[in-house]
Amino acid sequence: MSDFDVIVVGGGNAAFAAAVSAKEHGAKRVLVLEKAPKAQRGGNTHFSGAVLRHTYNDVKELDRFVPDAEAKYPGFHAGVEPYPAEVFREDLLRVTDGRSDPELSAILIDQSYAAMCWLQQSGRMQFELAHSVMGIRVGGKIKWPKGAIVRTVHEGVGLSQTWFETGAALGIDIRYETGAMRLTQGESGRVNGVTVKGPAGIATLAAKAVVLACGGFETNPEWRLRYLGVPWDHAKVRGSNFNYGDGLKMALDIGAMPWGHWSGCHATPINAEAPDYGKRELTDKTNRLSYPYGVMINVEGRRWIDEGADFNSYTYAKYGGMILKQPKSLVYQIFDSKVLDMLEPRYSSSEPFKSDTLAGLVKQLKVDHQQALKTLNAYNAAAGRGGPFNPAVLDRLHTEGIDPPKTNWAQKLDAPPYVSWPVTGGITFTFGGLKITKDAQVVGTDWKPIPGLYTCGEMVGGLFHYNYPLGTGLMSGLVFGRIAGKSAALA
Ligand SMILES: Cc1cc2nc3c(=O)[nH]c(=O)nc-3n(C[C@H](O)[C@H](O)[C@H](O)COP(=O)(O)OP(=O)(O)OC[C@H]3O[C@@H](n4cnc5c(N)ncnc54)[C@H](O)[C@@H]3O)c2cc1C
Repeated sequence: MSDFDVIVVGGGNAAFAAAVSAKEHGAKRVLVLEKAPKAQRGGNTHFSGAVLRHTYNDVKELDRFVPDAEAKYPGFHAGVEPYPAEVFREDLLRVTDGRSDPELSAILIDQSYAAMCWLQQSGRMQFELAHSVMGIRVGGKIKWPKGAIVRTVHEGVGLSQTWFETGAALGIDIRYETGAMRLTQGESGRVNGVTVKGPAGIATLAAKAVVLACGGFETNPEWRLRYLGVPWDHAKVRGSNFNYGDGLKMALDIGAMPWGHWSGCHATPINAEAPDYGKRELTDKTNRLSYPYGVMINVEGRRWIDEGADFNSYTYAKYGGMILKQPKSLVYQIFDSKVLDMLEPRYSSSEPFKSDTLAGLVKQLKVDHQQALKTLNAYNAAAGRGGPFNPAVLDRLHTEGIDPPKTNWAQKLDAPPYVSWPVTGGITFTFGGLKITKDAQVVGTDWKPIPGLYTCGEMVGGLFHYNYPLGTGLMSGLVFGRIAGKSAALA
């Protein structure tokens, strides 16, 4: 007899979605294995901003999550555009260069709203508007983008803690400091358990089905170098220091099929002084995402990217990697006083360089001073065409005659004091994963589903390529975690 009906490997959002769903679908003995000690539990989920992207055909469909939104932010109902499935699909395909797996992305999108309702009901989560990162202040009012504006209360800390509480309340067994090492299989090839390393040593636990939900390989410098290349082995890790690709390795070892963009990852502009791994108290506060309102120069003193190509929700996840590839993996974001009150509150987690002149500012930066000043003067001469400036829309306030151009929000830097934050690229999670069926069952390199083995979360391959629309990682974990748990319970 098996020790468990379902073993879920991992302690993040995807794992708990799977474990709770397995319980709901009749699995009596469900075990969650968390490699991290209790004080470091929860994977990237703990560090996340917990913003969730999902469809809704009418803003009123958000009322069940944020019933006080209109009272708190008058004009909310009138100001938020619908986010139907076709717009979510357009966004996902646009940023992934048309490569998002069609079958998986359809499931993700079509089940996203139901997954939110399930998270509220079965996950016992509470929500709020993500005002600090998604609300755009225009003329004393907040304008909301569409699609990704709701987050769990207390962000990722609340999401993770509530998942552990919900799991415990449902009688799900949680073992800390117990990392899965290997999958076990019967003679038929069916996965029937996991060998683990825990406080008491090595043991093999039997299960009717196993769900792998133990993250990507973002923490692993050797795999980053192997799959992402130079200089990713030197990247700072924004979140958990436990996601070494263990689940991917275990699955590949028994013939699972690699799927998706193995040289791709999610990485964002972060404080250059951020620690090498995510700090639990800082969570996502090292992000530096207000670059559309300023310019970014590298240590050679040159601009290197269109800071205003799109809203930051659609560029931030790829600009981190591009920053990492700049000389010394260091760039400086520069703003003038016109936009200071529009910067995300997260900027206050470090002190900027400041000066009343651009020349005085660049002198303080570790850049080619002469070239930097030349670049900023050229930018100022080219900026301010079109417009007017409006941070709530792609305002076409652009530059003319410089390369790279700035396509939107290109105000001149002409209002002292000028400020600058040093920024590097921090890795969030990797895109390469495993091929799964629509039931979240892992597929082998013989193109046949592997009996007894399911996966979800960052381990699913194929959804994200090159880039990623903000708020989709947790939604993917929820949707496919829910499916994986059900499939595993019924296996
Ligand atoms: C700073 C930051 C901010 C983010 N903000 C957002 C956001 O606002 N919205 C959004 O959608 N996404 C966001 N993300 C991404 C999101 O957090 C991830 O996509 C999501 O948490 C992945 O969930 P997961 O369950 O697959 O992995 P994780 O949450 O990383 O969980 C993996 C788990 O597996 C455990 N583990 C690893 N190896 C083993 C093993 N061998 N045995 C047992 N356990 C193991 C880990 O300890 C961990 O508990 C953010 C990420 C970071 C780092």
